[in-house]
Amino acid sequence: MRRFVPFSVLLLLLIASTSALSQHDHSRCGTPFDRAFREQEALRGIPGYFGCNAIERVDVKLQISLHIVQDRDGMTGVADDDIIGAQDRLNLLWAPIGMSFEICRINLIENYQWDSLMVFTDYNEEAQMIAVHYFPNTINVYLCDTIVREDEGQVGGYAYFPGGPDVIVCDKDEFNFDAVVMPHEMGHFFGLYHTFETDLGIELADGSNCEVAGDLVCDTEADPDEDGNADPDIECNYTGPVTQDSNGDWYVPPVDNIMSYYPEDCICRFTPQQYNRMVEQYRTIRFYLW
Ligand SMILES: [Zn+2]
Repeated sequence: MRRFVPFSVLLLLLIASTSALSQHDHSRCGTPFDRAFREQEALRGIPGYFGCNAIERVDVKLQISLHIVQDRDGMTGVADDDIIGAQDRLNLLWAPIGMSFEICRINLIENYQWDSLMVFTDYNEEAQMIAVHYFPNTINVYLCDTIVREDEGQVGGYAYFPGGPDVIVCDKDEFNFDAVVMPHEMGHFFGLYHTFETDLGIELADGSNCEVAGDLVCDTEADPDEDGNADPDIECNYTGPVTQDSNGDWYVPPVDNIMSYYPEDCICRFTPQQYNRMVEQYRTIRFYLW
């Protein structure tokens, strides 16, 4: 049975599909900057910069509840090897802080309407879905065929910062060993901002304001390229557009960082301070996860 969709939402979706889908591929991230999260963090007095390159460890295995929305034929659209591959990639990347992930259950969701997930203020299918399918104290990962957000158009995935629900939504095509959408969203889930974040101020290339601007992480270079327009060369060297900051210093952005928008063939790592920030966020906010 087809559910009623308000006309205004259909109109919004049409606008989104014509303006946004044409611009963005489905590996794009849909996690918006969360000012409430930042304000809470500032109140707790947790700095973005932890001062040294020694990586803290937490030595914990966290449980992932994997929810797969079936298509209208009842198929999952996700291969077993890709599920294992996605888990393996997370475990490789988080090994330096002793954090690992185990998919403890796979929950098949029969409502195929949510396979094309629409997340709008007036029509929020994610809210409908997690009201029914959600396992507390685990990381709830939802796999859908397409994900459309009101302000972003089609995205590859999105997550909630610490303090939000334990939810990550990911495009089925982006859930495998090679794709970096899951590691990127898990980075947000543990409090990392984009390397090109400017909501807190533009980070200077010399690092002088790295504790209060950009992504609040000082060992990720300032990154002017919000749109990911720059194409690193085949060896993943930054080739421009070559730009200068307000001091006249040249940017050398981190084209290998998972919290950037550079091609997934190039982005492959977190920095020590990103790891430390994730440890801090886990210990202070998401410590309740099993
Ligand atoms: Zn992101």
